[in-house]
Order: sequence, then C-alpha cells, then structure tokens
Amino acid sequence: MYTEATVFFPTLLPPFKVGAHTLRNRTLMGSMHTRLESLDRPIDRLSLFYAERARGGVGLIVTGGYAPCQDGLLDETGPLLVTPEQADGLKPIPQAVHAEGGKIILQVLHTGRYAKVARPVGASDIPSPINPRAPRALSTAEVWQTIEDYVRCAELAQRAGFDGVEIMGSEGYLLNQFTITRTNNRRDEFGGSLENRHRLPVEIVRRTRERLGPQFLLMYRVSALDLVEGGATADEIAQLAQAVQAAGADILNTGIGWHEARIPTIAYVVPRAAWRFAAARVKKAVTIPVIVSNRINTPDLAEEILASGDADMVSMARPFLADADFVRKAAQGRADEINTCIACNQACLDYIFAERPATCLVNPRAGRELEFSLLPPRAVPRKVAVIGAGAAGLACALTAAERGHTVTLFEAGSEIGGQLNLARAVPGKQEFNELLRYFKQGVARHGVMLKLNTRTDAPSLAGGQYDRIVVATGVRPRLPDIAGISHPKVVSYADLLSGRVQAGRRVAVIGAGGIGFDVAAFLLHEAHADDTLPQTVAQFQAEWGVDTSPSAAGGLKPMQPVSSPREVTLLQRKPEKPGRSLGMTTGWALKAELARRGLRTLSGCTYERIDDVGLHLSVNGVPQTLVVDTIVLCAGQDSENALVAELRALGLTPDVIGGAEFATELDALRAIDQGTRLGLAIT
Ligand code: NAP
Ligand code: SF4
Repeated sequence: MYTEATVFFPTLLPPFKVGAHTLRNRTLMGSMHTRLESLDRPIDRLSLFYAERARGGVGLIVTGGYAPCQDGLLDETGPLLVTPEQADGLKPIPQAVHAEGGKIILQVLHTGRYAKVARPVGASDIPSPINPRAPRALSTAEVWQTIEDYVRCAELAQRAGFDGVEIMGSEGYLLNQFTITRTNNRRDEFGGSLENRHRLPVEIVRRTRERLGPQFLLMYRVSALDLVEGGATADEIAQLAQAVQAAGADILNTGIGWHEARIPTIAYVVPRAAWRFAAARVKKAVTIPVIVSNRINTPDLAEEILASGDADMVSMARPFLADADFVRKAAQGRADEINTCIACNQACLDYIFAERPATCLVNPRAGRELEFSLLPPRAVPRKVAVIGAGAAGLACALTAAERGHTVTLFEAGSEIGGQLNLARAVPGKQEFNELLRYFKQGVARHGVMLKLNTRTDAPSLAGGQYDRIVVATGVRPRLPDIAGISHPKVVSYADLLSGRVQAGRRVAVIGAGGIGFDVAAFLLHEAHADDTLPQTVAQFQAEWGVDTSPSAAGGLKPMQPVSSPREVTLLQRKPEKPGRSLGMTTGWALKAELARRGLRTLSGCTYERIDDVGLHLSVNGVPQTLVVDTIVLCAGQDSENALVAELRALGLTPDVIGGAEFATELDALRAIDQGTRLGLAIT
C-alpha cells in the first residue's frame, strides 16, 4: 500500500517520524467531540469508530477532549480522565487502533470559561460572550494544581495505552485564555508579561515530558490565529511555539479562531485551506513538525500544502468522518472514490452542539459503526429498481449495488442529483459537486444501470422483473395559495437556481427556511459569479476582516464593505426572527454575510396578492406593498409520489423514501440516511 502511496501522494503518504514514533504517513485525524459517550456501549462504539479510521490508514488519531479535572469539563456529562479506573476503562480504544496498525493520542482539554457547568473557572473572572455562566478566577495555587491535573491526565492516558497526548491550547479554551490579555488580567506569575501568560501551557508541557519520558508522543495545539479582539500577534504566537518546543513538545498542531470569534473558520463559506498562512508562520518559528488544519478535505490539497513547505502534517477531522478509507483510497490511486466532507456541519458539529451524538451527512455509518456492523449480511442478490436519482435514491441504489444487488436506477431528468444540483449553485456550496462526483463514480463503478431521461411508470415496473421497487421521486416546490400566484413575476427556487430563469433587481423571497436563505445568498452574490464562485481566500479575508500581517493582534482588521447586485427582501409568516431553522454552527455566518450584503427580512407576513406592481402583504397587520421585479417561491415542498399509488393499485408494495415519503423538512441528511439504511436492509 505504501509503495503505491509514494507514487500517488509522494509527500503526504510516506512514513513520517515524530518524536520517538514513526507514523504511517502525514495525515492526522484531528480531535472531534463525538458525544458517542452518551449512547449505550460507549467504549465499544468509540473503539469501532477509531479502529475503522485506523484500518483506513490514517497516520495518527487524536481523541475528543478529556478533562483533566472536574472544573475542566465540557459539560456535566463530558469525558473526564482523573482516576486509574477511568483509564483502565479506556484501554480498548488504543488496543483497537493498534490492532489496525494505527496510533492514537488522547486530547487533554480544560474548557475554562467555556464550560457548561454551574460555575466555570477561568484565568480571570471575565465572562465569555458565548457562555451565560460567569467564571471564577483560579487562585494561584489552583493554577499550579491544574498543571498537576494535566500531568496526571497524561499519565493516565499512558496507563490506558495511548501513544501520547495532545495538550489543547487553542480555540479559546483555558490555556488559550491564559495566553492573551483579553481574558487574563491576573497579577501573579500567570499574568502580566508574555512569559507569565505563557507559563501555564509551558509548565504543563515541561512537566508532562519530564514525568512521561521521551517515548510518549507530546503534541501541543497552539492557537495560530485567535480571531478575537485582544488576541495574540504572530510574534507572540511564535514565542509561545518556541517555548513549548523548548519545554519538550514533539510536534505542534494549530488551531484557528476562538469559539467566540465572529469569523467562520470551518463552515462551507470558508474557502479550502484558507488558514494555511497561519500554520506556515508557526512552522517558520520552530524546528519541530507543525500541522496545518481547517477546511482541507482532499488528498490533492493536502499534498500540495505539504509539498509547498507550509506544514509538515495535515489535520483533517471531518473528512475522516465522511470517509474512514480516505488514506487507503488515496494510496491506491482511487482518490475519486473518496466520499468528501462538504463542510456542511449538519450532522457533526450541529449535532454535537445540540447534544446529539455526531454522525455525517454524506456517511451515515460514521459514529454508528456498531449498529451498522450488526445488520444482517446480504442473503441473495436481488433485482432492485430505484426510481429517482436524487440524494435518497442515489444513496439507496449505491448501497444496494455495493452489497451485490442488481440495481436499475431510473431518472426522469438528464442528470443525477435532484435537489443536490440546486444546492451546488448556491454561493459557497460548491462542495456539493464533490458529493455528486462521489455518487457518479460509485454508480458507474458498482454497475448500477442508470436510465437517465426515463420517466418510468407503474405498468413497466410490474410483471415481476424486480424483487424490490424503491420510489425516491422526491419533491416539487409548493405553490402557495396567494392571489396572482401565476403572475409572470413569480418563479420557483428550482427554476432560479437551475438557471432556467433570471431574477430582476428588486426581489421578494417568500419563505425563509434553508432554501429561502440559500436563494437570498444566490441573489445577493450572483453579479459577482465569475469571481466569487468559489470565493478566493483573499476575498474571504477581505470580506470577513482577516488580517494576515504579522503585527495584527488576533489577526483582525475592519471588514471590507461589500456591494450586492440586488435588493432582496426575505419573508415569512411566522412572527419569529427568520433563520431559526438554519444550522447552529453555520447559520450565524450566513446571516451575518447576507446582512452585510443588505438583506432585508420581514416576519409576521400575510400575503394578500401579486400583480404588476409587486407583492401586496401585511406585516404584523400593517398593509404594505413590495415593489419588486421578481418574487421567488421558497415555501417548502410537497411530495412527488403519484407513482406510489399507481404501483399499489397494481398490487405492488414499493418502498418509499426521501421527499416522496415525507416532504416536510426533508434535507440531504435525512435523504441519504434513509436511502443508505434501506440499501443495507435489502437482503
Ligand atoms: P422549510 O425550511 O420548511 O421552509 C419553508 C418556508 O416556507 C418557511 O419559511 C415557511 O415559513 C414558508 N412556508 C411554508 N408553507 C408556506 C405557504 N403555504 N405559503 C407561504 N409560505 C410558506 O423548507 P425549505 O426552505 O424548502 O427547505 C427544505 C429542507 O431543506 C429543510 O429541511 C431545510 O432545513 C433544508 N435546507 C437546509 C439548509 C441549510 O442551510 N442547513 C439549506 C437549504 C435547505 P412560514 O410558514 O413562517 O411562512
Ligand atoms: Fe463533513 Fe458535513 Fe459530514 Fe460534518 S456532516 S463531516 S461537515 S460532510
């Protein structure tokens, strides 16, 4: 495998020495909280989850964060490692990874003032804007005790069999809170001068190395860019990196942005590899290896970054959720088969923030390895007809074909993808192209018989030539009951996003769900289509106020004003603030971006009529008229399922999935999950 690897990705995939360890390659599965601990059999689940990634060839894995003391917990139920018994309970995880030839280190994380516990602690008593619970400043003695807690946690990680630890020093957690004056106004030996503010992380690294010896892999995650006011300059970050190296770290990982930063760092609106400059700066300051992270999701990009000398290893967390076999496929020259992370955050970070165990939109198996491994194997090959090549139909057809069934996939349109084709037209959502590429190659490779431009009907499916018939005919845009709805000014989101119709300069968008916001983004960006799709890193930095000059504190500068080609008003009937249904970790960035582009929103609308003037409505009972050129309907969808009744009338019992089954709040996450599970259930 690794002979081939050097051919395909000659910098990324050969073995790489870090400290006393030789890693299989330069890929790192970065730390992610999974909340798998909240399910039954948590250690079995975590062992299977990490072992599957190790089997896929990843060079090094970092676990989710474990608190070194009660005060450091993420929340009351977060992972804690303070006793030998807890360490012994974790032993199956490194054992499972080692059995697959991989290596794994445990992240030690003290959340400080971000802790969702009754009384968080911090460097000072300065509250965080994202945590309503005010922190208490640690006493000097408690800080020294915290250092000991870290070292004890590392010792317990060693006892459990982990190859090392990552000391989490970025993202605004406790150690990061000590390093900058924004959160540290102490007057003892841990506050004031830069050396004092760096004392906590440096002492932790120094004592961990002393106590754990040279074989223990010691990674420190440095905040390479704080992205908050009062953050560190590049010079201060370099000094911390050097001090941590001198204290005994083997390798530096880099983190970007505090959790309270108002600049997105990993969401889909961030261009790929947008932060490599920050890792490259850290690399120049030290001689130990430095890891680059955030929005790197293909082996080609990882290879290019390493070959350029900007970093020594590449961290990818979500890409290994999306495809456990990322490295194996790259090494075997099958990179086009990788199921690429599309940076949607929908099933990973959004789930975690909603206190649900993480999985992945494009890979429902992620985090559910236990359930999936318990499913019965295929009994006999079946003949399966899937009608509709949208997300649900594609997932079902591909999964069934992978299991050896003979699958015919009918699609009325001229290409596969259904609503995915609309999503990829939205600014910043070009990553959906990767999902389409994944399905296209999978369908071809697994011999799915794809019948494009074919609107099949019930009689042609009857007659016994199929053992299973799966209806995945999707949805059609809902036509709201408004007087004048057939006026030429009115267009559907599907017609607009597919390019079949153009919008005028003044636009009203009816419906402020996920698609309404996507359409607003499309309308407010469109005139810049040539240069903003996808947005370049330089454009992103200018628009969001990222300063790459070394002297910029926190890496911030004023945001550049943006213009937009249209006046857009986004409307909903509900009286609440629009945007509630957007993803928790991506919606805020989208709303901020659209607000800068002049988006106007109205809630509490009652639509009266549409005519040559525009849209007549009342807003919270007050009549008004929106003089607009175009009205875009984003009022949800209805199921497209006439075929189901026709099949049933012929005595057939089709499976119905995706929007054809249930249109309300249908999204790609539910469609792919349902399609995959049905594909697996066909025995
Ligand atoms: P949606 O989220 O259900 O939104 C439909 C919108 O139309 C709502 O704002 C609703 O608000 C309005 N509406 C519903 N019936 C109406 C009627 N008869 N007349 C006028 N307005 C009506 O559906 P969607 O925007 O079509 O999105 C479909 C799915 O894709 C959703 O699950 C969505 O979450 C998902 N999606 C997610 C994202 C994302 O960024 N995460 C992006 C795109 C799509 P009122 O009833 O208050 O008017
Ligand atoms: Fe990537 Fe989306 Fe999967 Fe998260 S849910 S790993 S962001 S594809």
